[in-house]
Amino acid sequence: MKGYKMEIAQTKQGVPVSTGKADAEAEKKRENENEKKLLESLVADDLENKPNRCRICGAKLSYDGLGEYICPDCGHKEYDDYGIVRNFLEEHPGATAIQVEKGTGISRNKITRMIADDKFSVKIKN
Ligand SMILES: [Zn+2]
Repeated sequence: MKGYKMEIAQTKQGVPVSTGKADAEAEKKRENENEKKLLESLVADDLENKPNRCRICGAKLSYDGLGEYICPDCGHKEYDDYGIVRNFLEEHPGATAIQVEKGTGISRNKITRMIADDKFSVKIKN
């Protein structure tokens, strides 16, 4: 994932953008296949790490969309992995997957999975 910029996908078409170079195309294909293998090995993993209970008052959280959970009792907000990455990218647009991993503590495996799920799009850095 080195050299990729991540962005919040605006649509379900948040797929990697090609530079149009044949080399980049072939490299991307190889990378996609590696990612596929990686994803298959992750099936049993808890990929989203969804919060259940409010850490302030212990009430059951309700899902508020876009990886955000809100406590109906005290209004405290919690985020799942997607929400955490999303917040990070809002503050650091154009961050690379490596920067996202460092900034959020969420593994690159999970970030890769989110990209594969079209939650985030990637662009080849110029
Ligand atoms: Zn609460």
